Amino acid sequence: MTPPEPASGVRQRRGTLFVVSAPSGTGKTTVVKALVARVDGLEMSCSYTSRPPRPGERDGVDYHFVTRERFEAMRADGEFLESADVFGQLYGTGAVETHRRLDDGLDLVLEIDVQGAGQVRALDGTAVRVFVLPPSPAVLEERLRRRSATDLTEAQLRHRLAVARREVERMADYDYVIINDTLEDCVDQLRCIVVAQRASRRSGDARSEAIAQAFRELSGQ
Ligand code: 5GP
Repeated sequence: MTPPEPASGVRQRRGTLFVVSAPSGTGKTTVVKALVARVDGLEMSCSYTSRPPRPGERDGVDYHFVTRERFEAMRADGEFLESADVFGQLYGTGAVETHRRLDDGLDLVLEIDVQGAGQVRALDGTAVRVFVLPPSPAVLEERLRRRSATDLTEAQLRHRLAVARREVERMADYDYVIINDTLEDCVDQLRCIVVAQRASRRSGDARSEAIAQAFRELSGQ
């Protein structure tokens, strides 16, 4: 996809990182996929993970699936922008590809856990962090149970709820908190955050500078 505002002789705007975290089962993957389908110049980051693919997941699309050994070697070589152990599996965001895409002017969504979100903010003060809350613990449990028919044991489900409780405690660290009552509403709120963020950084970007330059030329006539 092309950047939202291609350079027109003025400096290229560097993309923004949007970090989205939510307790497991909140539905953030669905929300984020719908968001990037709707907003030009916004793409999802593809994380690395040591966990095996679930049915239907594709390597290089949903995740880069690597062995634990490979992941640890990459981490030792400093290849991750951030990384974390989530539910016993390793997850990380590739540093080189992230910087390349941001330099190309793309905005990126990192769908990562609360540990990773903290690391990103420490590295990049311009990152925008959004926490997505499920409507209630009961709704989260119900969503996890629906998924658990294929995926989670009862013990894993209990563990996820306990982790969710701890993660919700961290929502004050985020710039925005939105509630996933309905998919439509949640996607719309996220879209508004992206639009507002782009407008807040517009002064000095390629297109707004070109317009300002056109006005300068007018006054010279
Ligand atoms: P899942 O295995 O269900 O796809 O993801 C489990 C958890 O790992 C989710 O909370 C997800 O946001 C998080 N996660 C996925 N990719 C990354 C990543 O690159 N870094 C971090 N820190 N967390 C991630």
